[in-house]
Amino acid sequence: MKLHNTLTKQLDEFTPQHGNKVTLYTCGPTVYDYLHVGNWTAYIYWDTLVRTLKTSGYEVERVMNITDVGHLVNDDIDEGEDKLEKGARRENKTAWQVAEFYANDFLDGMQKLNLLSPDHITKATDFIDEQLALVRTLKDKGYTYQISDGIYFDTAKFPRYADFANLDLEAQKAGARVEYNTEKKNVGDFALWKFTPEGQVRDMQWETPQDLLDTPEDEKMGFPGWHLECSAMAMSILGPTIDIHTGGIDHIPVHHTNEIAQSEAASGQRFANYWLHCNHLKIDGGKVSKSLGNGYTLQDLADRGFGPMDLRMFVLQGHYENEGNFTFENLEAAKNRLRNWRNYAALRHQIHDTLRDDSQKGTDDISTAFYTAQQSISAALADNLDTPTALSVIDETFSFLNNRSLDDVHKTAFDQLLNLIDDILGLQLIVSTPDISDDSKRAIIERERAREARDWQKSDELRDELLEQGIVVRDTSHGSIWQYA
Ligand code: AMP
Ligand code: ZN
Repeated sequence: MKLHNTLTKQLDEFTPQHGNKVTLYTCGPTVYDYLHVGNWTAYIYWDTLVRTLKTSGYEVERVMNITDVGHLVNDDIDEGEDKLEKGARRENKTAWQVAEFYANDFLDGMQKLNLLSPDHITKATDFIDEQLALVRTLKDKGYTYQISDGIYFDTAKFPRYADFANLDLEAQKAGARVEYNTEKKNVGDFALWKFTPEGQVRDMQWETPQDLLDTPEDEKMGFPGWHLECSAMAMSILGPTIDIHTGGIDHIPVHHTNEIAQSEAASGQRFANYWLHCNHLKIDGGKVSKSLGNGYTLQDLADRGFGPMDLRMFVLQGHYENEGNFTFENLEAAKNRLRNWRNYAALRHQIHDTLRDDSQKGTDDISTAFYTAQQSISAALADNLDTPTALSVIDETFSFLNNRSLDDVHKTAFDQLLNLIDDILGLQLIVSTPDISDDSKRAIIERERAREARDWQKSDELRDELLEQGIVVRDTSHGSIWQYA
């Protein structure tokens, strides 16, 4: 399997550290609001990565965090309000209530989108001790310093700091924003632990252990920095070096750069061997944002008649490294493609093995096409998660079923193909295409007989009856085929 690795800036052959076991960490959402289609795009791609690894025979242990504290509005300069506290003010609730509500909504959305549940879903607020322990290790090794608003990481002590994101620190310093905290020693230094500002009480705050303070007699409440959370959760569960770390491209210059610095400074080992980043989804070519009124949620899509699988199909149509363009026309196109695929999947209920033994149908062109397609789909995904190519292979393969007698189709090969598509792309083709009732099947046969007897009135009546049951009958040169209306 080949993956584009942000660390090496090239396409690398993927080799896990330990045999066929893969450890994977995904930066999870900050739960201060509903997720928008852009956020979901990232999680759909990483779910596809996990599915691809699993279908390739790897055993995956995956951690995804939920950021419920410490992600500041201006996270690049450690300034601004905590997004959770901001959400709490907006909704007149506590930060704890806001976090619980949106974390549950996220889990619910994951189920709707058929995203596999990670082995560990960890909340930052449940890992405060581990985060403080990491600050302690860094302090003991001389990487930290304290200023008036918190304990910071001294990036000058980590010479590789700029490498991961090819940062130009000099230019950054020159162009530093006016609000840049001048107490910091270097422009890239970032907060590991922030103190609750004097005179303020936060919903979420913890006592800063005395041994972490320059003057231990001080009593300071504080909270973890966003970057620290991911390092502490990843390393405490998966060990100092993980195989794959995923996130959005927005994470490269600050969040992941800082995760690497603090994790590697603490452990002395490489934090992650493969770093994967998905590009951003744009809407009509512009940014996705609540304030622009285009931060569509799953509920917004449902209100417009689009299901979670329509979004999933839309996302898979693009490559994770390319910028996506969301428009409702594009979503409609994905929905149509999915509807088409569902009707192909429904053909499995109409393949009968009456004329020829199924085992004798394993070597004809169509069976061969189904088997080859399985290999081509897996190969496309193993080639740096090339979902658009996998989707084209599926289109092409399904089209073999056009103008065919279903009696020629090898049921086992077709079932296997559908199972693979569902396993690897998570589109739920099989569960979304149930068989029709025996009554409907009888009506289809009766209608065929009526047509043979040229009883057009009866045939039309039966067609209407079937339509009421959500079934459309198509007459082909090989007999009638039903589809979902
Ligand atoms: P956040 O809750 O802001 O931490 O974001 C959750 C995830 O969504 C992160 O992995 C971001 O990189 C990702 N993300 C945010 N906006 C977009 C977007 N427009 N397209 C794709 N991913 C995004
Ligand atoms: Zn993270």
